[in-house]
Amino acid sequence: MTQGAVDQALAGQASMTSNTTKYVYFFGGGAADGNGRMKDVLGGKGAGLAEMTNAGLPVPPGFTIQTDACREYMRGASNADMNAEMLIALERLERLQGQKLGQGENPLLVSVRSGAKFSMPGMMDTILNLGLNDHAVEALAKLSGNPRFAYDSYRRLIQMFGDVVLEMGKKKFEHIFDTIKEREGVKYDYELQPQALKDVIVEYKKLVKKETGKEFPQAPLEQLVAARDAVFRSWNNDRAKTYRRINHIDDWLGTAVNVQAMVFGNLGENSGTGVGFTRNPATGEHVFFGEYLMNAQGEDVVSGVRTPLPISELERVMPRVYEHLRSITWKMEKHYRDMQDFEFTIQDGKLYMLQTRNGKRTGLAAVRIAIDMVREGLITQEEAIFRVEPNQLYDFLVPRLVEKGAKVEVLATGLPASPGAAVGQIVFSAEDAVKFHNNGTYRTIILVRGETTPEDIAGMEVAAGILTSRGGMTSHAAVVTRGMGKCCVAGAGECVVNEAKKELTVKGHIYKQGDWISLDGTTGRVIAGQLKTLPAQPDDPDLVKFMGWVDPVRRLKIRANADIPRDAKQARLFGAEGIGLCRTEHMFFAEDRIGHVRDMILADNEKDRRAALALLLPMQRADFEGLFETMESLPVTIRLLDPPLHEFLPQRDELLVQIARLEETKPRSSKLKELRILLARVEELHEVNPMLGLRGCRLGITFPEITEMQARAIFEAAVNVKVRGGDPHVDVMVPLIGSIEEMRHQANIIRRIASEVFKEKGSTVEYLVGTMIELPRAALTADQIAEEAEFFSFGTNDLTQTTFGISRDDINHFLPAYMKAGIFKHDPFATLDQAGVGLLVKMATAKGRNTRPTLQVGICGEHGGDPESVKFCHKIGLNYVSCSPFRLLTARLAAAQAALQELQGGDIHTNS
Ligand code: PEP
Ligand code: MG
Repeated sequence: MTQGAVDQALAGQASMTSNTTKYVYFFGGGAADGNGRMKDVLGGKGAGLAEMTNAGLPVPPGFTIQTDACREYMRGASNADMNAEMLIALERLERLQGQKLGQGENPLLVSVRSGAKFSMPGMMDTILNLGLNDHAVEALAKLSGNPRFAYDSYRRLIQMFGDVVLEMGKKKFEHIFDTIKEREGVKYDYELQPQALKDVIVEYKKLVKKETGKEFPQAPLEQLVAARDAVFRSWNNDRAKTYRRINHIDDWLGTAVNVQAMVFGNLGENSGTGVGFTRNPATGEHVFFGEYLMNAQGEDVVSGVRTPLPISELERVMPRVYEHLRSITWKMEKHYRDMQDFEFTIQDGKLYMLQTRNGKRTGLAAVRIAIDMVREGLITQEEAIFRVEPNQLYDFLVPRLVEKGAKVEVLATGLPASPGAAVGQIVFSAEDAVKFHNNGTYRTIILVRGETTPEDIAGMEVAAGILTSRGGMTSHAAVVTRGMGKCCVAGAGECVVNEAKKELTVKGHIYKQGDWISLDGTTGRVIAGQLKTLPAQPDDPDLVKFMGWVDPVRRLKIRANADIPRDAKQARLFGAEGIGLCRTEHMFFAEDRIGHVRDMILADNEKDRRAALALLLPMQRADFEGLFETMESLPVTIRLLDPPLHEFLPQRDELLVQIARLEETKPRSSKLKELRILLARVEELHEVNPMLGLRGCRLGITFPEITEMQARAIFEAAVNVKVRGGDPHVDVMVPLIGSIEEMRHQANIIRRIASEVFKEKGSTVEYLVGTMIELPRAALTADQIAEEAEFFSFGTNDLTQTTFGISRDDINHFLPAYMKAGIFKHDPFATLDQAGVGLLVKMATAKGRNTRPTLQVGICGEHGGDPESVKFCHKIGLNYVSCSPFRLLTARLAAAQAALQELQGGDIHTNS
């Protein structure tokens, strides 16, 4: 299509339209059509550009095509109105700049960038230098007096256009570029001379023709329309979809497209480009923080191909520009009342701001910045509570390497891109990371790359840590891992990574796939071998202060799932207000007990079973004493034995092998006889569907002596601790109840044993008898069950399993397909399905309290540590959530945010 034909086609569409939606928002010349509050419409970037323009910042002008246009494009609706408005905006831009897109002596060039409501760094596509063609490149060469720059810009455009718009991929372009570099005998891109770059352009254009059957488009408007549509399409590329899934961003939002006059950071040594933060995004320290490169374009800084310089250097090189930059960013931080992440370009000594937005940060930084900003009077204490994502608090609990007494051989030191530690086996591609993670070959994986790109997102997600040999603190690897709260060492230049050969060479050692290394993301060190890790101390003074603001605000109590005193101690350290679930079976697996447990299971009469149980009794009693002592007067909820008994016996296949071996070697041995009895019992206990079989309260009903022993151990322990001056609060919990009759059966035993123990000991303790609600029938008949149960604890793992009819152990076989098809937005075992399972929880709570108004209700499934699920529990009025110790901080903050949102009359953000 020629320029004239495109103009005609678009103008024709323009005259046919009747416009109701405003599709295009202009910014420039000191004012903007939109503003910073219009993220829904303009996307984060577009709203930011409008806001910056309105604030009088030096922003290159342009226009934003809003998100509605993307959604309509996806639906295949007519885009006549949008085209018409875009033409008008382009003309306005041309008038303002005194330039024409790709035409004349001083051609206008534009960037075309995506920008969704929520930041999705690097996930969608961008095209720079658009408008360049065979004519404009010569004009630019003349105008700038820098032909190298002009040809380099043109070859970059063809490459980006080929990759993104024509969907040809990068590889063939890179091959041409590398071949010509080799021919010219140069190492770096910028060493290529104009003639060589012209050769690159000729080859690139030939490649486009060969691959697409068409010439690289010379008409600037044709370039613009195609680029805009490609950016719309990039909303649905695989990496963007993966990123949205991980970050729970709705698929229907769509992206805006920002078309903006180009400014050039690669016009020579008086030009440059950089990115920065108004505070340190890794630590929160109140220092101006950033990186830049002279004679470069933005992508050079963030792609990690060249290692940038710290921004403090700019103060020395260009003091006036540095001061201007500082004053602008300070102003923006005050204006937005939050730490800013900004991008700038210096063209011929003049500063332009390309972007400023609230910066992503680690959990450590989020807490510190929130506290500092309250102290500086920028935000209130309540606002501070919302400045930290509940999951970010996990950063305070990230592991650290145990170095004392260990052999620490530092192989290399890179940038401390994302704090924490990771110890794992190395792999060299994202695909391998995903494969070895899914098939369980490696327990923990370190992904080692030259640099990461957005294509690596799925591999980064499953890795425990990331190591790159190139790139800075704002490289893709650094930014993405900080968001994930995952350890990363970036730009470790001494590491030579050969991705093709799957080898890492450092300090003369060659590390191959599967070899162990340790990373320290807090100091940037790469360490040989498999160091041990230690959990972080949660006593960071900033954290303690922050949690001091959080806790008084929440209404939900937060308990921990903990089975042994060590975990209970950890839980108290992280602020647990009780134990919401002690899974007693975990005590059964200990080495000194499993023999007695097996004897108990193998017994074929009650007497033998009781004898085995009698040996277990003192052990369980001692465990419970430990728990009561650790938790002092906080409630301790002890659940009776839950899993099917065969879980405590050896595997059938293992037994068959052992028996076959003995039959050959010692056919008359008593061991063989023993094993045959064991095998017979294993086969007797075999169930087709054990999760729906003899487990939970069904065990205690089939073998009441098990419940008797456990109840006795609990009450004897409680009385013993009380006699020693303690104040135990005991909740005895019956698992997998489905009917009032089951509940009554078990409650009777528990209460009878309690009376016996109290009588024997001459002392009593207060206690409650309650149940897990983890079967739909229990939820449906909760009003009846509450006649016996004094508390409910929703076992949302089993309740999800039984409500959906999905095995909690096998969901991985089809979860990826369900997520991809959009059937599930979340893994329902991670985030509570509020519409179905949540409805049962809500209904059962109401029914239960109807019968027993004082009923205490909590949840103790995995969802108890998931922020969205915690907020839901607050909303429906539960008393507590119980979660693993490491998720306690997260649950505490989520509960506080839910309470504050309710107070402020806002909607509690949940995923329903
Ligand atoms: C549950 O089912 O949610 C629960 C807490 O119990 P378990 O995970 O031990 O089955
Ligand atoms: Mg359960």
